[in-house]
Amino acid sequence: MRHDIYDLAILGCGPAGLSAAINATIRNKKVIVIGAELCSPPLHKAQKIDNYLGFPAIKGEDLLDRFMQHAQSMDIEITSNKAGAINEDAGKFSILVGDEIIQSRSIVIATGIPYKPTLPQEEEFLGRGLGYCATCDGPIYRGKDVLLIGHSSEAEPEADFMAEICAKVYYLPLYKDYGAIDSRVEIITSRPAEIIGEDFVEGLKLSDGKTIKVEGLFVLGGETAPDRLIPGLEIEDKHIKVNRRQETNLAGVYAAGDCTGTPYQVAKSVGEGQIAGLNASNYVSGKK
Ligand SMILES: Cc1cc2nc3c(=O)[nH]c(=O)nc-3n(C[C@H](O)[C@H](O)[C@H](O)COP(=O)(O)OP(=O)(O)OC[C@H]3O[C@@H](n4cnc5c(N)ncnc54)[C@H](O)[C@@H]3O)c2cc1C
Repeated sequence: MRHDIYDLAILGCGPAGLSAAINATIRNKKVIVIGAELCSPPLHKAQKIDNYLGFPAIKGEDLLDRFMQHAQSMDIEITSNKAGAINEDAGKFSILVGDEIIQSRSIVIATGIPYKPTLPQEEEFLGRGLGYCATCDGPIYRGKDVLLIGHSSEAEPEADFMAEICAKVYYLPLYKDYGAIDSRVEIITSRPAEIIGEDFVEGLKLSDGKTIKVEGLFVLGGETAPDRLIPGLEIEDKHIKVNRRQETNLAGVYAAGDCTGTPYQVAKSVGEGQIAGLNASNYVSGKK
C-alpha cells in the first residue's frame, strides 16, 4: 500500500539501499526503496565474496538473496521502477517513478557506481535536444521527429507515448527481445555511434554508418547521474560528496555505498547505508 508521504525514499536496492531501509524501519520510519528490475547487478555478478564478515566464500547472488529476504521479512516496500527526476518544495521531495509521483521527507541515494554515459557527447547535448524522460519533455517535441534509446523494456511505453504526439518516432533497443511497440514506431537494430549537431541535436549516427535526422533524442533506463536526478547535488571526483554522517550538501539528502566513492565493497556499502538510514531518520524526527 502506498503512503501519501514517506519518511525516507531510498534510491537503489543494492546493499547500501537495503541497509538504510532496514535501519530506518527499525526506527519506525515509513520507508520506500525505489529499486530496479534487478537489484544490484554488480553483486549479482560476483562469483565469490570472501570478505563479507560471517559469510565466507558466498556467491554474490546468494548474499543478495539474503539481503532481499531480510528486507522482505520487514515488509519493506520496493518498487521495480527506477527513480526519475526529483523535485524539492518546502522540505518535501517528489520523485517520478514510472508514471507515479512518490513523496518523501528525506532521500537516501544508493544508486551504485558513478554514472556511465551511453553516448560520448551526452553531457554536451543534455537539455539541447537530449533528455532522459520522454513523457516529461514530450510536449516540446510535438509534431517533430525523435529517437529513443532504451536500455530495457521499461522504456517501451515511452516510445508508445511519443508515437501519439510526434511526427516520427524511432526506437533503438539496447537489449534483446523487445516487446510489442506501437506500429507507428520504427525499430532501429544498429548500435548508436555519435550525436550529430552543432548547438542542438540534429541526428544520430549509427554503427552501420547511416544517420537518422531527429530533433529530439532520449536515453531511457540507463544510469542517470545523481546530480541530474537532484539538481544542485555536489559531486567530487565523479562521486557524491558526503560527510561522515553521509549528509550531502542538500538538506534531507543522504548518500551511501559505491556512489560516494571507493573502495567499492559490500561492507562499506552496508555500513554507509546504516549511517545514512539512521541520520535520515533523525532528520525526519527533528522536522516532525
Ligand atoms: C564482478 C564483481 C565482483 C565483486 N566482488 C566483490 C567482493 O568480493 N567483495 C566486495 O565487498 N564487493 C565486491 N564487489 C562490489 C560490490 O558488488 C559493490 O561494492 C556493491 O554491490 C555496492 O553496493 P551499492 O548498494 O552501493 O550499489 P549497487 O549494488 O550497485 O546497487 C545500486 C542499485 O541502484 C540501482 N539504481 C541506479 N540508479 C537508480 C535510480 N535512479 N533509481 C533507483 N535505483 C537505481 C541500480 O540499478 C542498482 O540496483 C564486486 C563487484 C563486481 C562487479
